[in-house]
Amino acid sequence: MGIRASVSKLQPYTPGEQPRVPGLIKLNTNENPYPPSPRVAEALRQIAAEGLRLYPDPLAADLRAEIAHLHGCAPENVFAGNGSDEILALCTRAFVEPQGEIAWFDPSYSLYPVLAAIADTPARAIPLTNEFRLPPIEVMGLRSVSLMFVTVPNAPTGLAYPRPEIEAICRAVPGVVVLDEAYVDFAPESFADLALRLPNVLVTRSFSKSYSLAGLRLGYAIGPRPLIEALFKIKDSYNIDAIAQRLGIEAVRDQAWMRANADRIIATRGRVADALAALGWKVLPSAANFLFARPPGGDAAGIFAKLRARNILVRHFPGPRTGEYLRITIGTDEQMDALLAALRA
Ligand code: PMP
Repeated sequence: MGIRASVSKLQPYTPGEQPRVPGLIKLNTNENPYPPSPRVAEALRQIAAEGLRLYPDPLAADLRAEIAHLHGCAPENVFAGNGSDEILALCTRAFVEPQGEIAWFDPSYSLYPVLAAIADTPARAIPLTNEFRLPPIEVMGLRSVSLMFVTVPNAPTGLAYPRPEIEAICRAVPGVVVLDEAYVDFAPESFADLALRLPNVLVTRSFSKSYSLAGLRLGYAIGPRPLIEALFKIKDSYNIDAIAQRLGIEAVRDQAWMRANADRIIATRGRVADALAALGWKVLPSAANFLFARPPGGDAAGIFAKLRARNILVRHFPGPRTGEYLRITIGTDEQMDALLAALRA
């Protein structure tokens, strides 16, 4: 009664747990183990409560100018969101007619099917191959797609996709393609150039991973002006609060800090991948800040529970494709040593 049918039957998105357990080694939601830039910390100290009387800039102009500078584009090519999740949701409202189709690859980010269900439009998960690679483009059925989400590099697998295939998908989809680059700073290449060259491509980025600001809720999209303008038309007036606008600027300005942390995480990732392989795990080559790996025997659920009992939290996605794997966020070297010691025990 009173609740839309599509909402009544909706299976909501399940975020990774955020337990407040002392001493917990938290490797389940791909947060960054290192702190945000000292410039962010200093700007936070300088924020006066008095200034919060006023609404923030509805256009987040200074932040968007800083992001535009980073990408060598115009501020009109940049949209800022309350986390990249907000932007993904706005895309389903801006770019899909009631009967338009939303598509994504399976497995990829488990929010996409939920967004499609909320939008109450036809939806299609295009299966990746058994090795979690892209299938041949001819079998993807892209001609009917109004909005396509492609996670690059993919999550939860961590796999990077070849540029020619990504570009071919962008050209084959008649609707809008969102290249979700939440993890791109841990990857060898970005496809941001496609969003500035092709009329139907947006690239989304997150401050939650490489910038160590998951708690701030900030993300952005870059792309062609008409698509960016469409997002502006439908967003909440004040979708980015004043604090996030201010701190986001400092985070973008300190590329050296972000890069150094991402490089440390990449180095740790390589070391842990080798150690897991030596223990007999099948480890997919990762271009992200996590590893997707199958323990010998494939009892991922059992190992998840045993790690949990030792105060180490990783992520398990039940289901036929992913159920034999664990997704392990890369933490500090000490945290990863504790994980490896627990696995050896
Ligand atoms: N895209 C992917 C693929 C993700 O894994 C996540 C994190 N859950 C997001 C987007 C959302 O990130 P944000 O914190 O910027 O909303």
